[in-house]
Amino acid sequence: KVGGHPKPQAGPMRPAGVDRILVVGSGKGGVGKSTVSSNLAVALAKQGRRVGLLDADIYGPSQPRMMGVSKRPASPDGKTIIPLQAHGVTMMSIGLMMDPAKAVVWRGPMLMGALQQMLGQVEWGKLDVLIIDLPPGTGDVQLTLCQRAALDGAIVVSTPQDVALLDARKAIDMFQTLKTPILGLVENMSTYICPKCGHEAQIFGHGGVASEATAMGVPLLAQLPIDLDTRLAGDAGTPVALGDSPAAQAYAQLAQGLIA
Ligand code: ADP
Repeated sequence: KVGGHPKPQAGPMRPAGVDRILVVGSGKGGVGKSTVSSNLAVALAKQGRRVGLLDADIYGPSQPRMMGVSKRPASPDGKTIIPLQAHGVTMMSIGLMMDPAKAVVWRGPMLMGALQQMLGQVEWGKLDVLIIDLPPGTGDVQLTLCQRAALDGAIVVSTPQDVALLDARKAIDMFQTLKTPILGLVENMSTYICPKCGHEAQIFGHGGVASEATAMGVPLLAQLPIDLDTRLAGDAGTPVALGDSPAAQAYAQLAQGLIA
């Protein structure tokens, strides 16, 4: 035979010991993607699953705050990184490796390096599921992960507002194009129920995500109301899913439906 060996193909990245990888994406920022990721992780852990949470939202990593951790992960040998533990979840955030006050200005290859580190050098241990909180939109991180990591499914979070839905459609389209199985849509900030009088207000509209899910042929996994406790708990680093409020029960239900 003439010529050298064929170049070895880089196989899909999946940390050893991790059974499945699920990504949580959104078309836009601010729709609750990180809130859903952390609460889903906590709800799964409460159900006895071994759960990892990787915050890959390089432009706005919010998991350290939402999960209540701020320590820089240790790397005793300078090669492997020891993830942190919070609320029964093994977690790692790109934000823990950067100066929180500095903006991220990374080119593609640096991003790829960071992602590869997060998946390959972090000692995830044995996990039933690793949840990856993606940056919003359809950029480099999503593309790299979809192409290079062995993803088992994607969840797309949207509010019922038209502008958010428009972008959610693009996110779904991206996952379909890249052949990442879509588990479904989560409608967040669905309605607001006044805690004093019980009146229900459709602040961002109503029914949009359900009809979008039908139109795109993907399941509607949950409809989560606007809930003050969810916001307060997220800000305090103790996800609402740790408790047993209606919001916590909604997350428990979402978690149960995802992993049979
Ligand atoms: P994203 O990850 O899409 O940018 P976040 O999860 O950071 O969005 O949420 C944006 C803000 O909205 C946060 O302050 C969060 O606490 C709040 N939030 C998210 N979901 C809800 C909800 N269902 N009810 C009330 N506040 C919410």
